[in-house]
Amino acid sequence: MIKWKAIIIGFILAVILTIFLGSAGGIVGFYLAVLIAGIAVGYIVDVNIKNGATHGAITGLITGIVSAILSIVVALAYGASGILSGLNVIAELILSIIIWAVLGAIGGVIGTIITERLWQTVFTRGIMGGTAKTESPEEMKPKIEFTRENITKCLCPQCPVQAESECAQTKMKMLQESMRGMSPEPSDVPGVYCATGTATCSDIDPNKMCNCPNCDVFKENNLEQGEPKGYFCQKGAVK
Ligand code: SF4
Ligand code: SF4
Repeated sequence: MIKWKAIIIGFILAVILTIFLGSAGGIVGFYLAVLIAGIAVGYIVDVNIKNGATHGAITGLITGIVSAILSIVVALAYGASGILSGLNVIAELILSIIIWAVLGAIGGVIGTIITERLWQTVFTRGIMGGTAKTESPEEMKPKIEFTRENITKCLCPQCPVQAESECAQTKMKMLQESMRGMSPEPSDVPGVYCATGTATCSDIDPNKMCNCPNCDVFKENNLEQGEPKGYFCQKGAVK
């Protein structure tokens, strides 16, 4: 799902930075501006690298197209329409749009990685309190079972990431019925993703804060030692 709000913020940032960096550093300043805007978009948008790259690329593409249109308008306004007629000029404009999109994508990936690293730091500090316990390698290898006990402890149903998901809410209602009788299937449960892997609901919002670090399943099983360190609904089961 494309997050247009993030792209608009990135575009506005790219325009502002282009004005400042472009006037100071010329073409390098332009490219730096779109790279920084891409980083900002990747940082805002997600902890998923593909999403960060896609949003960064779209931001770079839009900025590049707007910049090309402005260049043409300025050339026409100054009566320099002659310089726009050559095939070379058109090729250069297309090439520069592609470069902006690629730089935006690279920025998006960097922004996503920064977000991920920050999350890992927050999780590790929050759970470990800055003091590492000495444990055997086997103890440090987390593996979560899909059990009724863990379903009960799981905080995913109260997580802001799923709060506006119709799909997750429907599953939750059905789960409350099935928990009284037969054991539910993993696909019926909008949670315990650390055991079962990515969510089947596609309308969840990974921009919100993951609840996992507050969960007893997370704390009791040292999930801060595994990978990923949260957002199991997006990134799959812990390993
Ligand atoms: S895995 Fe984390 S982010 Fe995903 S629903 Fe559960 S608590 Fe929320
Ligand atoms: S660690 Fe996260 S995914 Fe696993 S049970 Fe707890 S809240 Fe659910």
